[in-house]
Amino acid sequence: MTQTSMDIITIRKDFPILEREVNGQPLVYLDNAATSQTPRQVINTIVDYYERYNANIHRGVHSLSQEATDAYEIARKKIQEHFNIGHSHEVIFTSGTTHSINLVATGFTSFLKKGDEVLVSAMEHHSNIVPWQMLCERTGATLKVIPMNLEGELVMEEYHQLLSEKTKLVFCNHVSNALGTINPIQEIIDAAHKVGAAVLIDGAQAAAHIQADLKALDVDFYTVSAHKMCGPTGVGILYGKEEWLKKLPPYQGGGEMIAEVTFEKTTYADLPHKFEAGTPNICGGIAFGAALDYINSIGMNAIAQYEDELVQYATEQLLTIEGLRIYGTAKRKTSVISFNIDGIHPYDIGTILDKLGIAVRTGHHCAQPIMDFYQIPGTVRASFSFYNTKEEVDKLVEGVKRARNMLL
Ligand SMILES: *Cc1c(COP(=O)(O)O)cnc(C)c1O
Repeated sequence: MTQTSMDIITIRKDFPILEREVNGQPLVYLDNAATSQTPRQVINTIVDYYERYNANIHRGVHSLSQEATDAYEIARKKIQEHFNIGHSHEVIFTSGTTHSINLVATGFTSFLKKGDEVLVSAMEHHSNIVPWQMLCERTGATLKVIPMNLEGELVMEEYHQLLSEKTKLVFCNHVSNALGTINPIQEIIDAAHKVGAAVLIDGAQAAAHIQADLKALDVDFYTVSAHKMCGPTGVGILYGKEEWLKKLPPYQGGGEMIAEVTFEKTTYADLPHKFEAGTPNICGGIAFGAALDYINSIGMNAIAQYEDELVQYATEQLLTIEGLRIYGTAKRKTSVISFNIDGIHPYDIGTILDKLGIAVRTGHHCAQPIMDFYQIPGTVRASFSFYNTKEEVDKLVEGVKRARNMLL
């Protein structure tokens, strides 16, 4: 493998957690699809906020409140620029992808009726299935599934067949967290728009790996969680096209989202505040901006290229293990490898790897329908980030071999 222009040794020094040991072994963190680690630059931003300008925003005339408001709004602008979003008021701060999806699904309640159809892909995270099921129960609309094939790719011919004038909404993830598949979202969006349907793309898994240009995609809604891209937990965004955000009713009532309140009637604040009731995760929003600065200082293209090399190397090495099967072999995928070994429960492999200091995820990865499709209880999932090394891949492969020998 050619080490790219990235200096991994220097990058790793930015992540204090990578220096710790687990069960007496150096930590090998390969659970990046569940959450990414946090660089010192982001940690420092969080500390600085609480040490120097912790205050509520958009309200006070005092200096601390103004400093906090400015920093929060600068972060919103950084997010706008990073994802190439037309207006900063189309960036709604949320607690993350799950919150963002529920905001849209709840908002659509008054727009759907019996006979309408909602399409959702077969490889969704539960957070992109359950809110739509609840929406369909409330409205009488029908949920239909875009099927996938054994490689873990959506069957696009079937998608085009499913689309009709009855289709009102289409939901799909940009990248599957369980399989790593990169979905052809431009084709999905364009085809949905031809029949007048709106599209929500769940970008939670994609955002750390792919530079999404939301203006070019012409997508209606896009969701991101900061904690999957070196930011803190509990903060993310919903991107919504201005025309949609104006039409959707507010999700929560409370402070900050109103223009005027009397007991007879309340009028709502302008975007984005209409959807930002209550005191938000101020520090988290600011730290999300710092995470984007950090990632951009390395460069999204360099990250994607390096992770591609890493996942290719890991795939080759893992496939040398007898009885090992990889789920999700799409032609276009990110740095996620879901696998099992014949005759061994994924949980047992995960437990042995943990003893060796290697963190992987085992189970259904919040995507049970995918496991049902392959008729398996779950998988072992190793997911790589730009701070992982080839040596760590070797440790994973050695660990899996050891687990196999112990368990078979
Ligand atoms: C992580 C993830 C989610 C859920 O994100 P939260 O931050 O837990 O709200 C949804 N979809 C995909 C594809 C994910 O990877």
